Parts: sequence; C-alpha cells; structure tokens
Amino acid sequence: MSEQLADLRRRMAEISDLGSLGALLFWDQQTMMPPGGAPARAEAAATLARVFHARETSPDLGALLDALEPWAAEQDPDSDDARLVWWARRDYEKAVRVPEDLAAELTRAKALGQQAWIEARAAADFSLFRDALARQVDLRHRYIACFDGFEHPYDALLDDFEPGLTTAELRPLFAELRDALVPLVSAAGDVEQERNAGAFKGEFDVVTQKLAVLDVLGALGYDPDRWRLDPTLHPFASGIAPDDVRLTTRYDEHDFAVALYSALHEFGHGLYEAGSDRALWRTTLDDPVSLGVHESQSRLWENMVGRSRAFCAWLLPRLNATVPGAVAGLDTAGLYHAVNTVQPSLVRTEADETTYNLHIILRFELELALMDGSLGVDDLPAAWDEGMDRLLGVQVPGPVEGVLQDVHWSAGLMGYFPTYTLGNLIGAQLWDRLRDDLADVDAQIERGEFAPLREWLREHVHRHGRKFPPRELLRRITGEELRVDPFLRYLREKLADAGVLATAT
Ligand code: ZN
Repeated sequence: MSEQLADLRRRMAEISDLGSLGALLFWDQQTMMPPGGAPARAEAAATLARVFHARETSPDLGALLDALEPWAAEQDPDSDDARLVWWARRDYEKAVRVPEDLAAELTRAKALGQQAWIEARAAADFSLFRDALARQVDLRHRYIACFDGFEHPYDALLDDFEPGLTTAELRPLFAELRDALVPLVSAAGDVEQERNAGAFKGEFDVVTQKLAVLDVLGALGYDPDRWRLDPTLHPFASGIAPDDVRLTTRYDEHDFAVALYSALHEFGHGLYEAGSDRALWRTTLDDPVSLGVHESQSRLWENMVGRSRAFCAWLLPRLNATVPGAVAGLDTAGLYHAVNTVQPSLVRTEADETTYNLHIILRFELELALMDGSLGVDDLPAAWDEGMDRLLGVQVPGPVEGVLQDVHWSAGLMGYFPTYTLGNLIGAQLWDRLRDDLADVDAQIERGEFAPLREWLREHVHRHGRKFPPRELLRRITGEELRVDPFLRYLREKLADAGVLATAT
C-alpha cells in the first residue's frame, strides 16, 4: 500500500501546485497585469484549468482510490492518510460526474454572463442581463442533475462551497436570524447616518494609508518575509503557499475605513491560508475547508476584534500618529460607537455588521425561489425591491443599486452567498469558545498582544486545513452544531455596550 499511497500523494502534490499557479495568475491579474494582458491571460488560465481538470479526473486516480479505500478503512479515521483518501475521492467524484461538454458550457456561460452583466449595469437595464441569467439558472439545473444523493436540488450547489451543508438545515437558521435582525435593525438603525458615523473621513493619500495599514497588520502578525499587501478594486486574499500570502486592499482617498477594515478582513483570510500544518502542505488537505469557515476567520478579525472596545482603545493612539485627522476628536468610546453604528442601506458590500446578513438572507431566498421555479427570472427585479423594503425598509431606486449590484449570479455562483452569513455565525461560535479559553483576551488586545489570539485560532482551526469537514470541525472545537443565538447575543451585547442600542433587547 505504501507505493500506492506515495502515488496518491504525488498526484495530490501536482494538483496542489496547479492550484497554486491558478491562484498566482488570478492574483497577478487583479493587481499587477496591464489591461492589454487580458486576452493572453485568459488563454493561459484556460490551459491551466484544462490541465488541472485532466489531473483531477484521471482514470488512473480513480483506480488508485479504488485500491486504497479498503486499506484506508482500516486506518485511524483521524489520520492524515485516511482523510486524504476521503477528500481525494470526494474531489474526484465531483469532477468526473460533470460531462466535459457541460463543463465547457459552464465556463463559456460565465464569461458571457459577466459581459452581459457589465453591459446591463452600464445601461442600468436588467433586461440586458435577463437571458444570461436565465441561461445560468438552466445550467445550474443541468449541473445539479449530474449528482445524486442530495435531498434538495440546492444542496448540490451549497455543497460546492460548504461541504455537507443542507437546505433543510439552512432554511430555519436563516429564518430565525431574519426574524431577530429585522426588529433589531429597526431599533438600532438610522438610514440617514453616515457609515461609521463619519469617522475616518477626510483627505488621506494612498502612501499614508498603506503605511498605517501595514503598521496595524504588522502588530497583528503580518510577516513581511511571507506576506504582501497590494491595492486592487475588489479586495481578496490569496494563499499561494503557506509562506506566500497575498493580501489586497482598496484605498479610498476620502475614507480610511475602507482600506483599514478590508485589510483586517483579508488578514483573517490570510492567517487561515498560512496556518495549516506543515505535514499537510501540497496534499490538497492544506486548503481551507469551506468558504463559511474561511469567512468566519475574516469576520472575526474585521468585526469581533476590529470593532471591539479593546481594539478601539489600542487603535486610537496609533491612528492619531499614523493617519492624523482620521479619528480626530474621538475618544475610545466615541470610536467604538462610530464603528458599530447601524445604517440600513442598498449595497451589500457597504453594509454594516448588523444589516449585512439581511442582504445575504434576501439573496438566499431569491436563489431558492429561482431554483425551485417559484420565481421566474423576469420577476426577479420586483422580488428584489420588495425584499429590500421588507427586510431593511429601504426603497431601491434602480437596478444598479438593486438586483444588478453583485457579480456572483452572472458567473453562475449560486449557493455561494449563504457562506458569508455562515462566516458570521461560525465566527461567533468560535469567539464564544475562544473567550472561554482566553479569559484575558480583551486586556491582551488592548495591550496589542495578539499572539495568544492568533495561536488559539491556529491550534483550533487553521492547522487542520480541510482535514475535518466544516460540521465536524465546528463540533470538535465548540461541541455544537451551527447556531444563530451566539451571533445574536454577541451583536446585541455589543450594540448596547457601544451605546448604539438604548438597552439590550
Ligand atoms: Zn471574505
């Protein structure tokens, strides 16, 4: 068996390397590549994707897994090797069940869909996007039909981003969250208020902002020998390898909060990418286990740490030194209040922590309705506008700030949005457990001692990579299933403590 296991590990190392190259091409395209490079890059990326697909679906790999599985069943189920065989089988089945012509159509529809979306946005006209979206819905149905064993068709979509999560499980959780958040937002929210109550506003050049962001990240654990920070339009983090982490952020010369909080968010993603056990490197087990768990790490640093009273106390004198004017006139309590204010608004990516999940719940409800046929593509804009009024009490002026605001559906990404909210829920469950273990964490944060927090996350989450599926990981760490109430409790307590909500309701 040792020979076959070595063969499997060699194949997984190649697949892992090809994945790293794909991530590097994407990072370069979003940060460095001159616009003229786009056509050649598209060809290079397509070639790489074909090579990747061929490796993933190789019949030799299937035969190897057939041979290894009886052996793996005898091993300690928690061993790296047993888990490697399990994940390799899962990835293989997912890849081989989609016929090549459908895979090619999915790729083509992605490019065409994004083009139609760009044109529809430019013209502020949903009808220009309508056919491309209908095509994506149809292709999703054909994709779902490739798989069996899912209870609900939408489960097959969810499973690509959050392995093992089901619609039956998600629907009541999101309904509970919605029913709690709607009254909370109407009690705490103020539509007229500026984001962050106007803190961080002013004129700040990019160089000053970048130095200030690096100063903060350096204190949190950013290692310049292993990490980079570059500007981009839509910030992301990419783990090319555990010792090669690329963060990106966006600089708004009138609002320092954009760069600061997106950098905190991406730092959380980067730390996860960097933290897997050395023994898992180049096995494909070193990848993050799901988008929801990934997002729990970014939200934890952005919101649970980054908008805490202790962090504000630590941050304030630092920013007064590095970005004069950004938080002028504020004391700790003032900054803490400002960064936790609630403003129902139209655009998801600009939403505050409290309203954010309602944007996601709307998208989840609409995706389910589109996929089960209870909502037609033509009725989507009206359903969107109705949902924004019902959930957030805001009136949508047009499709650009409404149904056309996100790129996801144009690229066929359905079942993806829920992972953002899962991140908030999982983050709060981890935060509870973490605070049990690190009773002193607030004082540590206030003193700028982030190592214990970072180490706790590495020990409990990061080092496992994707060895344990999300449900199992959460259970191992917290002893619990996915829950809504830790997040709600955390939010209510913070809003009351920051003086955003008159009394904890
Ligand atoms: Zn994120």
